[in-house]
Amino acid sequence: MGVVALIPAAGQGKRMGSERPKAFISLGALPILAHTLQKFEACPQVDEIIPLVPPGEGVTWTREIVSRHGLQKVFQIMPGGAERQESVFIGLKAIREKAGAVIIHDGARPFVTIDLIQRSLSEARRFRAVAVALPASETVKEVDRENTVLKTVDRRQLWMMQTPQSFDYELILMAHEEARRDGFVGTDDASLVERLGIPVKIIEGSRFNFKITAPEDLVLAEALLKYSSESGVSSSE
Ligand code: C5P
Repeated sequence: MGVVALIPAAGQGKRMGSERPKAFISLGALPILAHTLQKFEACPQVDEIIPLVPPGEGVTWTREIVSRHGLQKVFQIMPGGAERQESVFIGLKAIREKAGAVIIHDGARPFVTIDLIQRSLSEARRFRAVAVALPASETVKEVDRENTVLKTVDRRQLWMMQTPQSFDYELILMAHEEARRDGFVGTDDASLVERLGIPVKIIEGSRFNFKITAPEDLVLAEALLKYSSESGVSSSE
């Protein structure tokens, strides 16, 4: 019963304002998705990687990445769905043999580290659902529709969710099936488990593990990549 990594990367990346889907935009010399896939390839605890990519050319482009970088854990590349949740569900359904654990990570977070993947998987042996997150570092306020502040929320209990999120395979499959049945759409996978009343354990992630969403994130990502290669201080291994 192995570990399967699902990498949802099927977003069109409209906020990037690029012609190519976000996963295939260059970061340094490689597409964003290549950076992310390499991390999971290099992690000994991961047995199989299933990328979920934009239908059509996305599959061809991903096949190129896989062969160019000799990624040996990618046996299948799946076209994703219209929503992130649907893409993940397609990935779960594509798992052929019963997996022990499933680790789900956004393709758009190329600075995930092998250490973070390992910590997430190791905690998932004790807890059935584990999510990486950061404690809220800014003051958080709740506002009304006119953007007038209603109140300041106590941030000591607030965490900003990231990926990877690791789960017991049967649990996350059930959580996705129930969400579909109920028409529930969550913004992460942990929320589908939470609504079943099952505890989700949080472990602290890294600020480097940000999601590339808008053009300015790409500027930061390029700078971080350059810094880590020049300083030898690795943000990514
Ligand atoms: O849109 P956002 O950046 O929040 O998406 C998070 C991750 O989910 C990205 O890696 C994106 O490619 C992926 N995604 C997906 N299928 C979709 C939409 C987003 O796999 N339909």
